[in-house]
Amino acid sequence: MRSNPTAGLLASLFSTGPRLSLTRGRRLICAAGLALGVLATPLTAVAAEPDMRVVLLGTGSPVPLMDRWGPSTLVEAGSHRFLFDAGRGVPVRLWQIGIPTGALDAVFLTHFHSDHTVGLPDLWLTGALGGGFGERKAPFHVIGPVGTQDLIDGLKKAYASDIKARLDEGKANGNVKPVIGFETKVDEFAAAGVVYDQDGVKVTAFDVNHGDEIKPAVGYRIDYKGRSVLISGDTRKNDNVIKYGRGVDVLVHEVASAKPDLMRVPIIKLIVHHHTTPAEAGEVFTATRPKMAVYTHLVLLSSKTIPAPSVEDVVQETRTTYAGPLTVGEDLTTIDVGDTVTVHRVHPAAKW
Ligand SMILES: [Zn+2]
Ligand SMILES: [Zn+2]
Repeated sequence: MRSNPTAGLLASLFSTGPRLSLTRGRRLICAAGLALGVLATPLTAVAAEPDMRVVLLGTGSPVPLMDRWGPSTLVEAGSHRFLFDAGRGVPVRLWQIGIPTGALDAVFLTHFHSDHTVGLPDLWLTGALGGGFGERKAPFHVIGPVGTQDLIDGLKKAYASDIKARLDEGKANGNVKPVIGFETKVDEFAAAGVVYDQDGVKVTAFDVNHGDEIKPAVGYRIDYKGRSVLISGDTRKNDNVIKYGRGVDVLVHEVASAKPDLMRVPIIKLIVHHHTTPAEAGEVFTATRPKMAVYTHLVLLSSKTIPAPSVEDVVQETRTTYAGPLTVGEDLTTIDVGDTVTVHRVHPAAKW
């Protein structure tokens, strides 16, 4: 079981939403909650069905950490489900909250760094299977900037023999295996703007700046029933995030940091300069005033001799430029958006 020394601090971070009484590891809380007939988050806080729900499936970076898997954010709008990026472990995190891998309306990509896309073939191919955990009944729908089609074409080539074998076996046994889940549908866009508009859900892509060599790179704003969620993607502090993020309900932002001693190392400096520091993110939050600012994709760098900044360090630096509501995401942190914005430290249905 993972100890959670920052729990007291995390609970104190919320200046809106419920006060969580986290005192130990979340697995213990879930187990204890079930045993006592209560949940870690008060039931009254989830009484009204939210219009939108944001689930941080993975809050990590390329570092293969057990408790922070690859960047991926689920946004539910009514009965629709959308994924933003597909990092390491996406199907596992989805299934932990009871969502089959095949039950997504579309996957949106922010850029092509591998930590944001390595979960894509798993999502695609596992979703095409049955067993309750897959169950895709339509082509795998991926939406992203130019390069998305190449990526999917490459994956099709890489997994051609697996797909052929599964389909051949199905045919040899009276077509007992569905074909449609292996099919793909790619919507590639060359310019920022509205990239999805269906059933009252509008998704707008906007350019961000992840460094001169890392293009394209976009963020997304999702609008539904007068509610709004913004996902920064990977970016330096960026004016478009401020422009599109002004007044949103939830602003999900990346963050990167290293201790001052480590920042003297050129490669570390380069990495951090592709991202947004906590003080810079605080400036973005202050300019946009979201109902809840949320950190994901925590790039906290370390070396053999210099430790990574802690969550407390990140909060402290953010507080030099921002005094509003702030949540430092963990995997499966869930934010419900309705008349109020409610944060669950871990998804109410999560199983560990
Ligand atoms: Zn990146
Ligand atoms: Zn990244």
